[in-house]
Amino acid sequence: MAASVAPVYNDSGPKIVFPGDFTHMDSSRRDFLAAGLKLPAAGLAASALVAAPAPAELTYRTLGKTGLKVTPLTFGGGSITDPSLVTRAADMGINCFDTARIYAQGNSERLLGVGLKGKRDKVVLMSKTEANDRAGALAELDTTLKGLGTDHLDVWFLHARDNPAAISAGCVDAQETAKKQGKTRFLGVSTHDPAAVADHIVGLGKHDVVLFTYNFSMGAGRDAAIAKLRAAGIGLAAMKVTTPSGGGFGGGGGRGAGRGPGVPAQKPGAHLAALKWALKNPAIATATVTMTDTDALDENFRAITERLNPEEEKLLAVVNEDIRPAYCRMCYQCDGNCPKGVPVPSVLRYLAYADFNGDFPMGRRNFEGLPQAVRQVRCGDCGSCAIQCPNGVRVQERLVRAQEMFA
Ligand code: SF4
Ligand code: SF4
Repeated sequence: MAASVAPVYNDSGPKIVFPGDFTHMDSSRRDFLAAGLKLPAAGLAASALVAAPAPAELTYRTLGKTGLKVTPLTFGGGSITDPSLVTRAADMGINCFDTARIYAQGNSERLLGVGLKGKRDKVVLMSKTEANDRAGALAELDTTLKGLGTDHLDVWFLHARDNPAAISAGCVDAQETAKKQGKTRFLGVSTHDPAAVADHIVGLGKHDVVLFTYNFSMGAGRDAAIAKLRAAGIGLAAMKVTTPSGGGFGGGGGRGAGRGPGVPAQKPGAHLAALKWALKNPAIATATVTMTDTDALDENFRAITERLNPEEEKLLAVVNEDIRPAYCRMCYQCDGNCPKGVPVPSVLRYLAYADFNGDFPMGRRNFEGLPQAVRQVRCGDCGSCAIQCPNGVRVQERLVRAQEMFA
């Protein structure tokens, strides 16, 4: 039986949280949630008699000029194995769900559709296309809609567009066509490098939402792009907010073991702190977190009921130093600087999928999309690397590992 809890969150801080039915949980889970909800565990057990409040008691953030009211937490559907987790998230009141055509070779959209059956009109549904041309994008959209079991998306993103050229006229035309056909309500771009594409997106004036990488390891590095996009009324959604906290997808109490040299095991509380860090920025309407099980879902849900506290800030500072040699902050300062053409920030990101998220297939799939000449480069053959990362990443060492694992 799914738990139903509805947080009340506003700019003055976390408020009362209404407990729902926690009787199905063992005592450790009740204690865990009690800690998060600032209630005694016994109170949670007794509260099973209290009817769960309607999801309308949740507060929302506005997704820019779309006017959509979204929960600060978006269910990231990249790694779904059981549609009942999706249903549970919706029952808890999460109203924003994100996927992509490419996730799990289409199985993500399929399982998300099953989990949201009968709930489509209550949620904001987002998906993405990796296609690079008009016809390909429109064909992908039809497959997406079929997989999700719906006739329209709320936001349809061009997926992973990290430079202006990737937001091609053909793809934007496909998006506008889809909107006219009623297949999507709003248009979006997802990017790992918002600074590179913000001016282009604002200049085009076609897009309503930008989904971009944003986490505590980046500090203020995204602030200028955020301000630019926000001034244009574009709704902002964050992704990869918890990746540098390590430990695999979704949190769930720090079960990660750390993978690879220089990748520390996840510290307890780091995942939750990372998510709270992103949500403390009021410019961020919602943060997408990939969730794989109920523990992760419940832990992530806590982030919309609590504020980042000083102890958590200190914890994130420690984690930030721990991961420095291994985690690329995606500042893109080194992009284009390898004389052999290695797209360093991208390859380091692929490696982070494996080492920080525990998703080797995602890392390898991305690596295999690189041109053959790039895949054949061996960084171990360089006496020294031409790239000195100002953020302390051991670039050559990390790239050697990526090539050993993926090539
Ligand atoms: S390797 Fe360093 S310089 Fe290059 S994108 Fe990553 S953090 Fe920035
Ligand atoms: S080690 Fe050599 S090939 Fe690899 S990124 Fe550095 S300069 Fe480029």
